[in-house]
Amino acid sequence: MNIQILSDQVASQIAAGEVVERPASVVKELIENAIDAGASTINIDIRNGGRQLIQVADDGSGIQPQEIETAFLRHATSKLTSVDDLQAIRSLGFRGEALASIAAVSHLTVVSRAGDQSVGTRLILEGGYKSGRETVGAPQGTVIAVTNIFYNVPARLNFLKSVATEKRVMDEYVTRYAIAYPTIRFRLTHDNRITFQSSGNGSLIDVLAAVYGPDMAGQLLSLGTGENALDSIAENQISEVSVSGFVTPPTLHWSNRGRITLFVNGRWIRNNQLTYAVIQAYHTLLPAGRYPMAVLFLAVPAESVDVNVHPTKTEIRFKKANKAFSTVQRAVRQAVMAESPVRQATHFSSFQASGWSGSLDQPAFSRREEPLPQAALDLDWTIDERGTVDGDTQASQNALAKLGGERLPIMRVVGQVGASYIITEGPEGLYLIDQHAAHERVLYEKFMAAWEAANGQETMAAQGLVNGTVVHLSPSQSSILSDQLEFLTSIGFEVESFGPSAYMIRSVPAMLTGIDPSKALIDVVEDLERGDTPLEKTIEDRIILRVCKSAAVKAGQTLDRQEMEAMIRQLENCRNPHTCPHGRPTLIHLSVSQLAKEFGRT
Ligand code: ADP
Ligand code: MG
Repeated sequence: MNIQILSDQVASQIAAGEVVERPASVVKELIENAIDAGASTINIDIRNGGRQLIQVADDGSGIQPQEIETAFLRHATSKLTSVDDLQAIRSLGFRGEALASIAAVSHLTVVSRAGDQSVGTRLILEGGYKSGRETVGAPQGTVIAVTNIFYNVPARLNFLKSVATEKRVMDEYVTRYAIAYPTIRFRLTHDNRITFQSSGNGSLIDVLAAVYGPDMAGQLLSLGTGENALDSIAENQISEVSVSGFVTPPTLHWSNRGRITLFVNGRWIRNNQLTYAVIQAYHTLLPAGRYPMAVLFLAVPAESVDVNVHPTKTEIRFKKANKAFSTVQRAVRQAVMAESPVRQATHFSSFQASGWSGSLDQPAFSRREEPLPQAALDLDWTIDERGTVDGDTQASQNALAKLGGERLPIMRVVGQVGASYIITEGPEGLYLIDQHAAHERVLYEKFMAAWEAANGQETMAAQGLVNGTVVHLSPSQSSILSDQLEFLTSIGFEVESFGPSAYMIRSVPAMLTGIDPSKALIDVVEDLERGDTPLEKTIEDRIILRVCKSAAVKAGQTLDRQEMEAMIRQLENCRNPHTCPHGRPTLIHLSVSQLAKEFGRT
């Protein structure tokens, strides 16, 4: 074959494929245009998951009659004129590709009336070619109706996802924009049924209630003002990175990270690093493999991000990615730490033993939903929703508060059950303590405190090994080890080279005495090797978690009274005694009044 330049039509279909990946992409692009046009109402009507119809109507500025054809040309935009403008994009669109791309792969009708016109214009396009134009009466704004999507791109048509999937993705786009723009009234219908609407009254929490339900909205923790600081972005009041929004307390969690939603300057974005910063903020507060929900608005000066990374505009690059990461992590951590879960055993008599369900897609500990079963204990427990605790719980919380916030009350050891649980009595009733989880928490806090005290200058207590232990590492592991030698020394490992890829361990962190030194070192190096984590601090946390796990008292170990006393005293002194570093509860509380209730005394 000879080398030829592709025809315009082929070229535009290829390009369209990048912008219009699926019917839901049309919804996204048309909503963005409506927002850019200053709409205060946006109605989205879908039929058959978009295969039959996608229509977006807005009451924005409208398009001038003499420009309406131009709007559908590739690289036609009113939002950008020079390369310099690309440095500081303030609108959602800027590439001038969406309308051309959508038109290239569908039948499209647009009716638009600009604010200063008395009549509107209707333009009909088929595969990007004009097939009709007339003057019509129309309200101010723009209505774009897309039918027969991908009629001329059989490859796309054959790979369309199910109608249900497409609807779900569309719902996600619409709700995201409704959250980012609470002053705009959104309405979404699927096959003539309203499936979502927001009031446009400007209240973010109202929109969140419409999206996630009033129950959940009532439990959200706010960051900063909570509100989206779009005004300050427009007015250039932001100098670095600011973050606001809402996150869930550690008592609510889900099996995937899909509920972490991020906006940067009013644009919904995908960003693994920032998503990770959110997850990281819940470190040790959530069970492994469970994720929070978050809606975060980042405001940054427009010139400090690059939004022109991909045609769909959902990826962005930060000039100061680390700053964004740490700002998000810190803000979320702060909001979350103000909230420490207090576990209460309720429904003591209802037995369930189905265990920890990783696939549960409901909030695992929400008040009215099924309580999370504790298989080993054969009793299940729930915790109370903030603010709506019942009388006895309130009393115990008050008692705890008197004893110093989230700390534990002074407890008396009663005994041990099943070589795994310690029973204690406190001022507010009975406590069951998981000895393994409690010991992990104690060790973790000790280790962290020692680390913080050392603050990278002094080293942590090291325990010398009389004969030393030789460990052999792979070439990549040994290069990591030599890179991180300083860090390893600071946590108590004294390691020296002992031939190619072999090392002599002279000392281990005192915290780890008793466990195999070479295994401990290899574990740490493997953690560093996997280091997908962007922060050094995070790496440390991970290492520490791991060493705790191997060093902690195991379930199934009989403890004498002195050991139990020591454990309880140490737990009482913990800053965050209610969960182990992996987020599981360390203790369950049964109040005196709950006991009375269970025995039918009340
Ligand atoms: P972009 O949004 O990147 O500018 P589009 O292809 O999405 O490119 O739109 C092209 C142009 O058409 C926009 O710049 C805008 O001037 C105009 N336009 C598109 N949709 C609307 C709308 N709903 N209301 C008013 N003008 C619109
Ligand atoms: Mg656009």
